[in-house]
Amino acid sequence: AKQDPGTSYRFYDRQLHVTAGHQLRVEADLRNALRGGELELYYQPRIDLATEEVRGVECLLRWNHPERGLVMPDSFIPAAERSGLIVPIGYWVIEEACKRLQECQELGLPALVFAVNLSFRQFHDRKMTETIFRIIFNSNIDTSLLELELTESAMMHDPDYAQRCLRELNQLGVSFALDDFGTGFSSLSNLQHLPISLVKIDKSFVQDLGESADAEHIIRAIISLAHSLRISVVAEGVETEGQLEFLRHQHCDEIQGYYYARPMPWQDLVQFIDRQNQFACLQN
Ligand code: C2E
Ligand code: MG
Ligand code: MG
Ligand code: MG
Repeated sequence: AKQDPGTSYRFYDRQLHVTAGHQLRVEADLRNALRGGELELYYQPRIDLATEEVRGVECLLRWNHPERGLVMPDSFIPAAERSGLIVPIGYWVIEEACKRLQECQELGLPALVFAVNLSFRQFHDRKMTETIFRIIFNSNIDTSLLELELTESAMMHDPDYAQRCLRELNQLGVSFALDDFGTGFSSLSNLQHLPISLVKIDKSFVQDLGESADAEHIIRAIISLAHSLRISVVAEGVETEGQLEFLRHQHCDEIQGYYYARPMPWQDLVQFIDRQNQFACLQN
């Protein structure tokens, strides 16, 4: 697999969180980053396998560090999570996504789902639903286009709490996706009481396709179980034609991966959507 730009900055986290002093420095740095406008969202398209049109985007956080360049989330989200800074950062992400969603509507782009990741800590913030309500009411978006991605562990930690929050937000139109599915210990049947409309198959399974028969079995099972519960399926980390064809054959609904597009800045996304949808139009 090709390397993401910025992968070389992973040392940042490793170097800086070894001591408490370093943790404090990362925190101070991150706090400044949030205040100083150094955070940016990149957008990775999700392609509908049936039509090849862009159905939505996942909003992915990047840090434009003044000295270190583009820093990837795996290098700073753990520190943000430990310090609790992920909570205000996470609300900034939702606000920014809502702004872009609104811009999309104003530009007359086709309706796109905007998916935002919610961390464990943010999901358990006592003001979570209230704050998200406020962000939504302050923007002028079609809430059915906002999707929140949660992991199994965030949802299963306190199932009653999860059920209450998901229902409250779902009543406003917000939808939920289960991220990195297959890596946790829960099963879809545990989650059938929750208003989840989508599961995202973890990229580790997709990347094992062709190398392990187990990966094929697992993906087939996830898709068929999800579909029987009327839940859609996105496969993450699709990089090759072979993976794509397997997933198409299994009636996976959407694809997200470098095969179609890497996460990109907003300006590039607008162009990508134009091109991809024209292409899809010619194919159909
Ligand atoms: P995730 O939510 O599972 O996001 C998918 C990750 O897979 C992204 O990494 C994306 O760039 C990467 N990816 C997509 N397609 C491919 C592919 O074909 N090959 C490979 N090798 N990778 C692919 P990214 O952007 O580095 O984000 C990593 C993780 O950081 C995310 O995983 C998510 O857990 C977290 N994250 C990102 N943004 C946010 C945010 O705003 N808030 C929170 N709480 N977490 C975030
Ligand atoms: Mg995600
Ligand atoms: Mg994922
Ligand atoms: Mg992940």
